[in-house]
Amino acid sequence: MSMKNYLKWESQVCAPNYNPIPVVLCRGEGVWLWDLDDKKYIDMMSAYSAVSHGHCNPRLLKALQEQAAMVCITSRAYHTDRLAPLMQKLLDMSGMDLGLPMNTGAEAVETAIKAARRWGHEAKGIPENQAEIIVCSQNFHGRTTTIISFSSEPEYKRGFGAFTPGFVDIPFGDADALRKAITPNTAAFLVEPMQGEAGIIIPPEGWMTEVRKICTENNVLLIFDEVQTGLGRTGKMFAFQHENAIPDGLILGKALGGGILPVSAFLGRRDMMELLTPGSHGSTFGGNPLGCAVALEGLKILEEDDLAEKSRVMGEYMMNRLMSFDSPMVRDVRGKGLWVGVDFHPHIISAREVCERFMENGALSKETHDTVVRLAPPLTITKEELDYALDILEKTIRELEAEKLAS
Ligand SMILES: *Cc1c(COP(=O)(O)O)cnc(C)c1O
Repeated sequence: MSMKNYLKWESQVCAPNYNPIPVVLCRGEGVWLWDLDDKKYIDMMSAYSAVSHGHCNPRLLKALQEQAAMVCITSRAYHTDRLAPLMQKLLDMSGMDLGLPMNTGAEAVETAIKAARRWGHEAKGIPENQAEIIVCSQNFHGRTTTIISFSSEPEYKRGFGAFTPGFVDIPFGDADALRKAITPNTAAFLVEPMQGEAGIIIPPEGWMTEVRKICTENNVLLIFDEVQTGLGRTGKMFAFQHENAIPDGLILGKALGGGILPVSAFLGRRDMMELLTPGSHGSTFGGNPLGCAVALEGLKILEEDDLAEKSRVMGEYMMNRLMSFDSPMVRDVRGKGLWVGVDFHPHIISAREVCERFMENGALSKETHDTVVRLAPPLTITKEELDYALDILEKTIRELEAEKLAS
């Protein structure tokens, strides 16, 4: 089937809740993807950081196949021998006390919200239904009705009310605002340590340390949503390790599934996690042995191949090359590790136009808001592959400069 016909077909059968880059992919390997015409692209997007191990990672395929031939799904009506090994590994890596497995990021965020509220009511002594959670504006934590209740993005919310109360928002990266927003009813501060969907926003140095201190002083849980920043993406295994600001709760997802399955988890302090008693929470697929086997192998790969350190080194190299482009169309380049946003002047060009030309030239990314092009390749990328992608980006920028700035 031609790509044109496929695109038309999909638009006739699929709700239009996405606006994908017009390419139809059918195969992937490492940092590479192929479309229906067998044209090859380098993946600088990694499914919003879910594919940190590269597409169809052979070790993960092996773990998937071996476990698939044993048992895949049992539900948690029973124990399986795959859950504890995964949880143990996550706790050893993160320093958390107990873990709860889910599937998608949004589900793990919902888990965190429930755990924090129950802790607020039953441990901290907040009157029933009064627990408040402080969040940051421009946050992204997923798409459930409760999570969009505290989004600042109008299109995430339009027509979807009524919304869940109990959330208070403050500016990101502002420790003083947190101090002022805390009341006796505050159960938790739920925040991305670095904001992803907001356009790769890195907080001021010292902010993580400061919010850790403020939460401890006020008996407020600090919950980091590391669904996107976690597992090596920012050049540390967890973004909180940039300041050693150990949270009380940690949300993981995306890369936890090895780019193969949806696997997420909420990890946290014992006195909070222990309140999630039988019947209080669950998921048919959460903690399934197939997902656990793939996730565990994925964590071993991250450690053995030192992918966090690779992300730091390659990320620095990428940042330096991006800075050297010195284009009048670019107003900012920011990021940590292999997680960088290139911010374009909106009155000259849209990030969408850049992504579409980038695609035509053989590399894939996706705009974030109207101005930011995200560069977040698999952490397995080699220097040669990274140069290949950055050469395409430079060519793309020069072409567009010539067109946009000609007059
Ligand atoms: C992607 C993301 C989520 C939601 O994950 P889904 O798997 O899409 O539900 C939550 N938090 C952050 C920080 C994310 O980047």
